[in-house]
Amino acid sequence: MDSGKYDIVIGLEIHAQLRTETKLFCGCSTAFGRVPNSLTCPVCLGLPGALPVLNERAVEMAVTLALAIHARVNLRSQFSRKNYFYPDLPKGYQITQYLYPIASDGWLPIDDGGTLRKIGIERIHLEEDAGKSIHDGLPDSARKTSLDFNRSGVPLVEIVGRPELTSPAEAVEFLARLRTTVQYLEICDGNMEEGSLRCDANLSVKEKGSTAMGVKTEIKNLNSFKFLERALAFEAERQIGLREEGLPVRAETRLFDAQQNRTLPMRSKEEAHDYRYFPEPDLPLLVIGEDLIAALRSRLPELPAEKIRRFIDAYGLPAYEAGLLAESRGLADYYERTAAASGNARQASHWIMREVRQHLNDRGEGIERYPVRPEDLGELIRLVENREITLTAGKEKVLPLMISSGKRAAEIVREEGLLQISDGDEIRRLALRILEENPGPLKQYREGKKQVFGFFVGQLMKASSGRADARLARDIFEGLLAADDRTS
Ligand code: ZN
Ligand code: MN
Repeated sequence: MDSGKYDIVIGLEIHAQLRTETKLFCGCSTAFGRVPNSLTCPVCLGLPGALPVLNERAVEMAVTLALAIHARVNLRSQFSRKNYFYPDLPKGYQITQYLYPIASDGWLPIDDGGTLRKIGIERIHLEEDAGKSIHDGLPDSARKTSLDFNRSGVPLVEIVGRPELTSPAEAVEFLARLRTTVQYLEICDGNMEEGSLRCDANLSVKEKGSTAMGVKTEIKNLNSFKFLERALAFEAERQIGLREEGLPVRAETRLFDAQQNRTLPMRSKEEAHDYRYFPEPDLPLLVIGEDLIAALRSRLPELPAEKIRRFIDAYGLPAYEAGLLAESRGLADYYERTAAASGNARQASHWIMREVRQHLNDRGEGIERYPVRPEDLGELIRLVENREITLTAGKEKVLPLMISSGKRAAEIVREEGLLQISDGDEIRRLALRILEENPGPLKQYREGKKQVFGFFVGQLMKASSGRADARLARDIFEGLLAADDRTS
C-alpha cells in the first residue's frame, strides 16, 4: 500500500448492548441464548396499541458512559423513529435518538508513540436493538429464514466516533480502549462474539496533507478485532488502487467477507432523509437532572487510563506491563493484591505477566477462573525472593502443584523437599562431579569455547532437581574453571 501519497481517515460507530435486566421499553428479560421468541411481549413485538415505557437503568448506564468518555450530558434529549423495512424489525421503525442525543462531544485517548492522543467522539445515543434473522442451522433452513425477537428492544448505546483515526492499528486500539472502558463501568460485557459489542467502520483516503475529504465507504458488522483490522487494511488498499487508476470511489455500504479476506458491496449508502426520522410521539422528552449526573459521577470507578498511570507511578512498572495488567478490572485487582502479599510489586508483575497470563491464555479463560488466590501467589513470590526456594523450583514445581492440589506454597515446599541448596560446600561437590562426568565439554571449554559454561550450570541445576542456588552455582563454576585456567 502506497501510504506515502495518501492519508487514511477512519471513523468507528460502535453499538454496545447495555447490561440491564430488562429491555429498553418493556419488562422482558434481556437474557442471551434462551428459547427463540420466549422473551417477548406486545411492546417488543410491535403489536398495535402497545406503548413503550423507558428503562431508567439504561439511561443511568448511558450517562455513566458519557461521563467516563468526557462527554457533555444533554439535560434534554429526544427519542425519534427511524423508519425502514426489515423482517427483524416488527414495528417498521426503530426507536432511537436523532437530533438530540443523550450526550455529545467526548473523547478517548489512544497511545500515539508514547504520548496519548485524544480521539473525538461526536455523540452517544440510546436506542433499541432489532430481532435476529436465522438463516441456517435449522431443519428447514434451506427453504426458510426464521426470526427470533428475543433481542428485539434490548437497550443499546451507539457511540459515534469522529473520523480521526489514521490507520487500521489505531482503529483496533480505539475499539479496545472503548471495550475496556465499558467493561470497567460494568455497563456492557464487551463480548464481540455474542454481539454485545458491534462495530461498523467508515474509511476514506485523501491526498497526503490535503484538507479535502475523500469519498467514504462504510463496512458493517465487524465482530472481532482481527476482522476490523483486516477489513480496514483491505479497504484502504482498494480505495488507493482505484485512485491510482483514476477511478471514482463509490459511497456505499460494504460487507467484510472473512473467508476471502475482502470487502464486497452490499448497497449504496443511504442518507439520513431516507429514514424519514421524526420525534417519537409515544415518549416524552428525556429530562436528566444535575443531581442524577452528580450521583453517577461520584460512583465512577477508576478508569483504565488512570489505573495505568497509577501502576506506573506507584509500582514503578513499565508502561507496557501496566497496560496489560489494567486490561480488566479483575486482573488489575488480582495484581494489586499479589503485589501487597508478596511485598514486591515488580516481581508480582513478572509472575502475572508470564506464569498467570500463560495459564489463562492456554485455556482461553479470564482471571476469575485462575485457581490460585493472589495472597497465595504472593507467598510463593516471597519464598523465591527470600531465596528459600529457587526461581526454577517455584515456577516448575511449586506453582503447578498449587494449581493442581490447591495447597499453599510453604506446604508444598515442605512435602516435596524443595528448600533451596545454598550451602557452598554442597554445590561445590556437585560442580566438581559435573566437570568430572563431562570431559568432552570441559575440553571444549579449555579450547576456548566459553559458551559451554551455561551447559555446566544447567547440568548442575538438573542434578539438584532445580534446588541449587543458581547464582551461587555460577560463582563456584567460575572459581573452579578460573583455577583450572591457571593450572592447565
Ligand atoms: Zn417485551
Ligand atoms: Mn444504531
